[in-house]
This record gives sequence, structure tokens and C-alpha cells, in this order.
Amino acid sequence: MTDKQPVYILPEDAQRTLGKDAQRNNIMAAKIVAETVRTTLGPKGMDKMLVDPYNNVTITNDGVTILDEIAVEHPTAKMIVEVAKTQENEVGDGTTTAVIIAGELLKNAEKLLDEKIHPTVITRGYRLASEKANKILNEIAEDININDQELLKYIAETAMTGKGVESAKDKISDICLHAITQVTTEKTDKDNIKIEKKVGEGIEDSELIKGIVIDKERTHSEMPKKLENANVALIDIPLEIKDTEIDAKIQISDPAQLQSFLDKEESILKEMTDRINDSGAKVVICQKGIDDMAQYFLAKKGIFALRRVKESDMRKIAKATSGKIVSNLKELSKEDLGFAGLVEERKISNEKMTFITKCENPKAVTILVRGGTEHVVDEVERAITDALGDITAALNDGKIVAGAGSPEMEVSKQLKEYAHTLSGREQLAVLAFAEALEIIPKTLAENAGLDPIDMLTEMKVKHDNNEKWAGIDVYNGKIVNSWDAKVLEPLKVKTQAIKSASEVAELILRIDDIIAASTNGQEIPQGGMPPMM
Ligand code: ADP
Ligand code: MG
Repeated sequence: MTDKQPVYILPEDAQRTLGKDAQRNNIMAAKIVAETVRTTLGPKGMDKMLVDPYNNVTITNDGVTILDEIAVEHPTAKMIVEVAKTQENEVGDGTTTAVIIAGELLKNAEKLLDEKIHPTVITRGYRLASEKANKILNEIAEDININDQELLKYIAETAMTGKGVESAKDKISDICLHAITQVTTEKTDKDNIKIEKKVGEGIEDSELIKGIVIDKERTHSEMPKKLENANVALIDIPLEIKDTEIDAKIQISDPAQLQSFLDKEESILKEMTDRINDSGAKVVICQKGIDDMAQYFLAKKGIFALRRVKESDMRKIAKATSGKIVSNLKELSKEDLGFAGLVEERKISNEKMTFITKCENPKAVTILVRGGTEHVVDEVERAITDALGDITAALNDGKIVAGAGSPEMEVSKQLKEYAHTLSGREQLAVLAFAEALEIIPKTLAENAGLDPIDMLTEMKVKHDNNEKWAGIDVYNGKIVNSWDAKVLEPLKVKTQAIKSASEVAELILRIDDIIAASTNGQEIPQGGMPPMM
């Protein structure tokens, strides 16, 4: 080892950013993502018009939808987008809030980095603050259960404020609440609520169907269009001759043999449909295909059939009709059948759909969303998803808080008090965290065209007076008790937003080296001279 050869571990065209530059670069990316969605926050937030490469337009103010559509490239920015997605999956609402907090946490961390505070000190402080924030939120939250229908309705309304449904907020939040109440057993599962969209009519014409709506028509025109008090068979096997039976090579030498083969096929299908008929079913919902011949036999018996119904819909129909999905026709019996007061094929905006309704105490229901254009129904669907997510979170956690910036301000206040109990530099990080949370009331004020400094000052005075729900009345530009103003949200929307925002901020702060591999490996010269450092 006389000649000291430099050691290269990276391909020569890998891009590397180190230390401070790496951090600044990442923080900048996070801030830009947060800035992008900031103007949409709250009831007075604006919408974004997103145009994809095929010129499809989406108009929304839903954080996760926006970030989903604008194909973010920067790796750190993508991490922030992940925060929105986690929030969407865990709660379904609060995506913008989570992203804005993440951006602000990083912005404040940058100031601490400028003051030469080490990133690990900041991340430790943030971790402490995040845990404490969670505790504080749990303490200030109020209890709720399914009997608090009025409160639950306010939660739905808050989730929808400022979205495209504003005009029909009352009707839609009623629908959401009734849907949830209908499907709730010990637990609330919003997956038992199917959302079916059909362009046409107006938002107010949206309705709750006590059963399931399937975007399919009956398989055979001679089947009845409408059946009352019908037993429903749910099967997840094809009403067809199995492939193997058809594929089996048969040498047919004379016409009589062919006839007997066809007869055999027919008799198998006949037997299948007889079994269904014998069970007492008047409706068959099949997850797989139904042979033409079988359709004919079913039609002749006055049975209504749907084929190739999605598995998820099968499960919902089972829940709605209290039926059982059967995989073996030989075992199909009366006990497996579900029941629907009405099964009907209806024409909605020129498309035929099947309504399985008037079920007895259905544990799955459908919200049929109507609206003038595709953009409208899409945005209504997003608003409904938020509302259902919020009511579900409220019921499953049993806790809610007021909104309008009040919980963030209260947590901020209490975190500052907590910071003073800490010694050392973590105190600064906790304070930075506390201040970052003020971004929510601040943004709500800004988006409503109010003076953020005036609003925040007045809010702080009230919180210091132990008015924990002092928040912004964005319509009148005043600080009010947001609980009394009926701006209510599930606790989870807040705890989750703060938790994931903090986690991603910590993750990003710990990065001090960005190594980006070459995008095109072929350009790396083989066996070339090592590059000069
Ligand atoms: P997110 O994607 O974070 O849910 P939103 O645009 O839905 O973003 O805004 C949510 C914020 O708006 C919450 O802080 C909530 O408390 C606030 N908010 C909702 N309704 C009102 C209202 N009527 N007055 C004041 N703030 C409200
Ligand atoms: Mg929201």
C-alpha cells in the first residue's frame, strides 16, 4: 500500500449532498409542499384545479387529493405526501392540517439549526413535545357516543364546511349520520357504507338507500324487473360448466353423441338453477359468471340474477340482507338466504342499476351520490368520505374536540408551559414545536381574509383565561367558543395529524447526507478512471 489510492464507493455520477445543504434542501422541499396546500385549509379555503397529463380536471380542496394528483418528484416532498396518505388512511380527514404542521415543524427546526442546535437535540425535543401534545389533547377532549346524534351531526357538518357540498350540507350530513347509525354495532366500520355515484339531478337528490345499490343490470331481459319481499341467494361460484368439463376432449363421431353431450351440459345447468329455485331464492347474486342457458332457466322461474358482482359488494349485500355467501350449491339452504323488501332494476340517468333495498335492519347501506357534473359528484364523494371518517373516528375513539384552531392553540399554550419545566436545549425545541402549532389558527385566519396577528393575540388572551375552545369564527372575524359554535371534530383527527407530522419532521431532520443514484445506469463508464474528488 505505497500508492494511496482514493476509495470510491459511489458511481461517479451519483449526486451527493451533505450536511447542512442536505438538511436545507429537504426542509425547503417540505415547506413548498405545505405551502401548496395551505390556501385550501378551513371553511374559507380555496379550491385547486388540477389538470393531469390527459387534461382531466379535478377541482378540490382536499389535501391528499391535491398531493396525489401533482406527481411530486422530490424524495423529501414525497415523504410529506406520505403524511397526508397516512392521515387519509387512519382517519380520512385532516390531511391538509397534517401537512401544514409538518412543514411548520421543519421551518421552525431550521431556525434552531441556524442557532447551531444539533439536529438530534431538535428531534428529541420534538419527540417529547409530540408525546405531550397527545396527552394534552386527550385531556381536553370530551366524550361522545352513538346517542349523541346532535353532536355527531355537527361533526359531519364541520367536516364538510367549505367543500363543494356547502349548499346541501344539512341533507348530506343527515345522510352520513343515518348511514353510520344504521351500520354501527359494537364498532363502527365505515366500510359497510357503500358510496355509489351517478351524475345527474342535484346534490340534494343524493339519498341513503337501506340496502345496496349495484351498478349492474339483470342478466336476462326476461327476468322480472322488480321483486318484493325476495329471498336472496349469494353465491361465489360460477353458474357455468367448469372449464375442465368443457375442455375434456370428447370424440364425437355421430350427431347423436353431440346431442347427448349438449343434453348433459343442459342438465347440469338445469340442476344448478333448480337447486337455487328449491332453496326458495327469488334473487341470485353471483360473484362469477352465469351461463346463458342458466340465465334462461332462471328467467323462466321468475328469478332475478346479477353476475360478476365485486367481492366487496358481495360482502356488503350479505351484511345488508343478513344472508350468507355460499360456495357450494349443494349446501344452499333457506337459512343461507338473505332478505330484501324490494329488489329492483332502476334507470338512473339512463343507466340501469340494481337496488337491493328495504332490508330489515341492514348492517350495510349505500349512499347514492347525485350532482350536476362529474366534478361535483367527485367532490361530494370526498366530502362524504371525510364526514364518514370523522364520525367513525369519533365513535371508535369516543372522544371529540372543538376545532377552528382552538385545540392547536390550547396545546401550544400548554406545551409552552411544559417547555419551561425542561432544562437544556430541548426546551427550545419544545417551544419551537409549540409555536409551529399556531400555524393552524393562523392559516385559518389568513384564508378567511382576517388579520392573523390580531386573531392570534386575542385567542391567546382567551386561552390564558382558560377558555380552551376559543377559536376563530371565520365568518364574523371574531374569537368565539368553537364548541358553542358547533365546530366539532374527532380527537383522532388532531392526535394523528400531530403525531405523523412530528414523525416525518424527525425523520427528515436526521438526514444529513443525500445520495442520489444516477438515473441512467448505462451512462456510467465501465472500468474508466476513478473521478477526481
Ligand atoms: P383538512 O384537510 O386538514 O381537514 P380542511 O380544509 O377540512 O382541512 O380544514 C379543517 C380545518 O378547518 C380544521 O382546523 C377545522 O377546525 C376548521 N374548520 C372547519 N369548520 C370550521 C368553521 N365553521 N369555522 C372555523 N373553522 C372551521
Ligand atoms: Mg377536513
